[in-house]
Amino acid sequence: MYSVRMTNPSLCDRLGGCVEVCPEGVWQWMKVGGRKLPVPASYEKCTGCLKCVRICPHHIIEVEPKK
Ligand code: SF4
Repeated sequence: MYSVRMTNPSLCDRLGGCVEVCPEGVWQWMKVGGRKLPVPASYEKCTGCLKCVRICPHHIIEVEPKK
């Protein structure tokens, strides 16, 4: 089980790479504070492949083994 989060949503450019690249469909578009943002809505499906971490140009995605 992994913890998946966006560390600084205000830096997100909403390019959607994380949504497209995740093979498990963890990232989904959601309205957050009136703004459409990728959210790790199904984080329990994460396999820790780190594709979302690598594709994010702002390095604001963190994936860690859940404690
Ligand atoms: S680490 Fe892999 S499986 Fe987990 S959310 Fe990112 S792209 Fe999806």
